Amino acid sequence: MPTDLEALRSTAMLLLLLMAGACSPAIAAPLCPVCEREASVSAPLDRDTGLRYHESCVEKGAVPRCDQCDGPAPRRIVVEKGEFHESCFREHMAPRCVECGLPVGRHGIDDGPMHPSCFRRLQRREPTLPGSMNEPPLRCDLCGDAISGELEVGAWGEIYHSRHAERTAHCDACGRLAAEHLSGEPFACADGRTLCGVCAETAISTKSEARRLFAHVGARLAERRIDVDAGRVKLVLAGLQELSNERNDGRRARGLSEHTYDRKGWTGSTIHLLAPLPEVELRGVLAHELGHVWLASRGLGDRAAWAVEGTCNLLQLWELRHRGGELGTRLIEKLEEDDDEVYGEGLRRVRRRVSSTGWKGWTEEFSEMPAIPERSFGER
Ligand SMILES: [Zn+2]
Ligand SMILES: [Zn+2]
Ligand SMILES: [Zn+2]
Ligand SMILES: [Zn+2]
Ligand SMILES: [Zn+2]
Ligand SMILES: [Zn+2]
Repeated sequence: MPTDLEALRSTAMLLLLLMAGACSPAIAAPLCPVCEREASVSAPLDRDTGLRYHESCVEKGAVPRCDQCDGPAPRRIVVEKGEFHESCFREHMAPRCVECGLPVGRHGIDDGPMHPSCFRRLQRREPTLPGSMNEPPLRCDLCGDAISGELEVGAWGEIYHSRHAERTAHCDACGRLAAEHLSGEPFACADGRTLCGVCAETAISTKSEARRLFAHVGARLAERRIDVDAGRVKLVLAGLQELSNERNDGRRARGLSEHTYDRKGWTGSTIHLLAPLPEVELRGVLAHELGHVWLASRGLGDRAAWAVEGTCNLLQLWELRHRGGELGTRLIEKLEEDDDEVYGEGLRRVRRRVSSTGWKGWTEEFSEMPAIPERSFGER
């Protein structure tokens, strides 16, 4: 019978042997997957598998390289920005959950990308778990399969296989993927546009709803002494084609205004509005068009195009800042980043003028600008 001490000793021996066994693969030099000979521990690393390659074997085997770390990446993720290890993509490029900060594809709410598990916890007011416990495998937001190969990153942080791109609509208003499990039941508009479930929820599609918004937007403009005689403004809701037919410059119109005049001046305006549009976006369009109506009613609609559109874009931007939420922020970015000479450059120029001379100073400067005769009808 072994003594207690002997038993202890043999257990310790066994443990040592087990530990040695567990450690041995790490101690042995790694084999290069191309030539199957030893590669040094400092040889180029495939971060996804931990395998080391000879530099010459990467070349010889035409193993693709990661655009982030330059290491061999045989199973890479391909996005518009380049090709990456999944681990490099996760670390440097994948959108991050606004709740736990870890990489995420799918988003659940209006405020940005979020893990569904984090969203549910937030809804139940449960505390956020330590990071690693939330980390789900990176999966395609559309089919749920693991991601590899070519993929797209959507405007709202969605990650999906490129092969779905053609068959999946993006929301016409916010740019989200219009898939039910991501953003609610999408709405197919009669004019061929798609609204995601989030935008469809607040979509304005009747004249009475539009009229109600018109009153709110008009009241906010009046606070800045931009007064319009609402009784002389008619609203018309239109689809994309009708609205585009009214325009001749090829820009995708969301709104358009026409004005009538008699010998004494402005007599009234008709504002054509794209419908349905989510409330926030429509409020912005209304503010822009009301800017045109205001200028027309004061006989100023015929000033330089950049000054007219820049001014109306500024009113639109101000309105979008009022309870615009995440959609408002995105629409403002779009206005600010527009590289169009008239619309984008106009906004930037007008903002510079307003910040140096104030709104009142700008309107005075504006009214002294020379008229450009051919520009008085059919403004966006
Ligand atoms: Zn090799
Ligand atoms: Zn890499
Ligand atoms: Zn999360
Ligand atoms: Zn997929
Ligand atoms: Zn949307
Ligand atoms: Zn305009």
